[in-house]
Amino acid sequence: MVPLKVSAYLGYRISFEPDKYLLRVQDGSAALDDTAFVSKYKNELEPPAPAEPAQNPPAAKPGKTLYLTFDDGPSATTPELLDILNKYGVKATFFMLGPNMNRYPSQVKRIAEEGNGLGLHGMTHRKEKFYASASAALAEMNGDNDVLRKITGTGTTLIRPPYGSKPYFTKAFRDKVLGQGYHLWDWNVDSDDWKYKEDSVTIYNTVMGQVHKLQKSKTNPVILMHDQKATLKVLPRLLGSLKKEGYTFGIITKDMEPVNFWKDKR
Ligand SMILES: [Zn+2]
Repeated sequence: MVPLKVSAYLGYRISFEPDKYLLRVQDGSAALDDTAFVSKYKNELEPPAPAEPAQNPPAAKPGKTLYLTFDDGPSATTPELLDILNKYGVKATFFMLGPNMNRYPSQVKRIAEEGNGLGLHGMTHRKEKFYASASAALAEMNGDNDVLRKITGTGTTLIRPPYGSKPYFTKAFRDKVLGQGYHLWDWNVDSDDWKYKEDSVTIYNTVMGQVHKLQKSKTNPVILMHDQKATLKVLPRLLGSLKKEGYTFGIITKDMEPVNFWKDKR
């Protein structure tokens, strides 16, 4: 750039109008004054396009964020489960039972400390008790939350009723329990890992088949698994394949729109 004083000395006139994106250097032969110049070249004087903010991570592709969930824990084999998650650099959400948390408090602490999601699965896991009444269901979730709070110092509002919310977690139940600020989470991929146990090939195919089906509608998978020894066998292969297919792994939070069988968005 020619310094102002020098340019004046050389016979140039400089005009600078930042609001019009104009820096004009002219000699005596210029035919247009600045106003006429701006109006003639207004297309060329468009503001520059804002630069892409480089610091933001690329937005997650629709349907490519996956939520692993483990029910019924913690268990004696939770540390091995967490080791596998860490090896693959992924997090999961754990819907835990109060009595199991009391039995394995150090597992609960590790689940929380390593940044996994925390959810409630009740106290008894017995249909006739949990679903006896809306108040009974609420009492189980509150009791479970008390245990979680005692161990980790923090509670949660994420719940998954035993056996999933359909058919028993009816509107009366939901009004009572969700009315207290809880958020209801079921799943859209059922691994059936409780049924197939050590048959990891069948569990693998069951999960991948449902995940690929959801991919067609760009729906993020919420996968139901269990915190049990048998599931450890299938997990590494499953995580390896899902990562290779470009899935990223998220934890469920209270701010997300809940996925549940009743489409209850509370
Ligand atoms: Zn369960």
